[in-house]
Amino acid sequence: MDRIKVGVLGATGMVGQNYIRLLDNHPWFEVAYVAASPNSAGKRYEDAVAGRWHMRSPVPESARDLIVGDANQVSKARGKCGLVFSAVEMDKAAISALELEYASGGFAVVSNNSAHRHTPDVPMVIPEINPLHLDIIPEQRKKRGWDTGLLAVKCNCSIQSYMTPLYALLRAEYRVSRMILTTLQALSGAGYPGPSAIDLVDNIVPYIKGEEEKSEIEPQKVLGRVEDGVIVNDTSIRISAHCNRVAVTDGHTACVSLEFDGRKPELDEILGIWRGFRGVPQELDLPFAPARPIIYRDEPDRPQPQKDRDEDKAMAVTVGRLRRCNVFDIRFIGLHHNTVRGAAGGAILTAELLKARGYLNFAGKLS
Ligand code: NAP
Repeated sequence: MDRIKVGVLGATGMVGQNYIRLLDNHPWFEVAYVAASPNSAGKRYEDAVAGRWHMRSPVPESARDLIVGDANQVSKARGKCGLVFSAVEMDKAAISALELEYASGGFAVVSNNSAHRHTPDVPMVIPEINPLHLDIIPEQRKKRGWDTGLLAVKCNCSIQSYMTPLYALLRAEYRVSRMILTTLQALSGAGYPGPSAIDLVDNIVPYIKGEEEKSEIEPQKVLGRVEDGVIVNDTSIRISAHCNRVAVTDGHTACVSLEFDGRKPELDEILGIWRGFRGVPQELDLPFAPARPIIYRDEPDRPQPQKDRDEDKAMAVTVGRLRRCNVFDIRFIGLHHNTVRGAAGGAILTAELLKARGYLNFAGKLS
């Protein structure tokens, strides 16, 4: 099978480098185009990331000699790829306009940025939770006059470690009325170079700009429903979030308390629901789908970022410490790899789902 040619916008950044690493030898996608800021444009990819390559494996051979384009010049990507992963970091309004320009230019755009997370006809997908939100794409294309173009986005990385365990319980028909969570978020979530070492060593920073709002609002869209060509938020769960930056390299942790509305599951039943949970990516056996989206650890001191973040291609959410809550009903800890499951890997899984659903239909129209 010919692989689909893809581009990575923001390929030199923290998330972009993860795309380059993860897409090397992908069975369906081949990185044919890389782009970044005008500072990197014109350089060989390996030269553009020299001295700031943060992956443990070397720059993949397949990407080393690609010449970096200017991500702001949509015409440079034309004919080279049909799908672009957007991981640029710039002004929100500029990203919003740029992603629309790529989509209206015929590219399928899967974005890590927040610029379009609340655009009503743009799906914000966690593939195990709301794969059906992709069904909005025909309407999106019709309304915007796009032929092969489309725009889908990833949610903020902070919500991933509790959304899948929460959704598994909702799917088992338990209603949740309130949730309080405290996140302990890794340094890589701030991009490179991120906050200063002096601010972080021997310290915790109890503020990440915009993160608490995203953690409280984005779940409403992910759990929402498609109605008349837009996604209508589900506001039934009241959420209160505290978000902290901690001196962990990769892996966001969330300490969560949940209150049920009506029927309350037993702890054993919850464990059974989590351990048995599978979603559409697992049914379709998508290349990046973890075999078990939720891994429950029985040890009292797990999950831990160092030990659990890389579980199942770093795409699984690891959960532990399920117990009764003295204020709400239950409490637990969730952990996921923020730059893989929470960013590049999660977006690749969304792109695989788009392909499986027949939405990457630009084959033969690349030149
Ligand atoms: P980053 O390390 O700062 O990388 C930013 C990228 O954007 C670089 O490739 C940079 O190119 C490019 N860029 C900067 N200014 C540009 C411009 N004016 N025009 C075109 N390209 C420009 O950021 P990151 O952490 O990878 O984050 C990338 C995106 O993913 C952000 O929108 C972020 O909110 C989102 N995100 C990040 C995470 C995470 O865990 N880090 C998780 C979820 C979502 P140069 O190298 O040439 O400057």
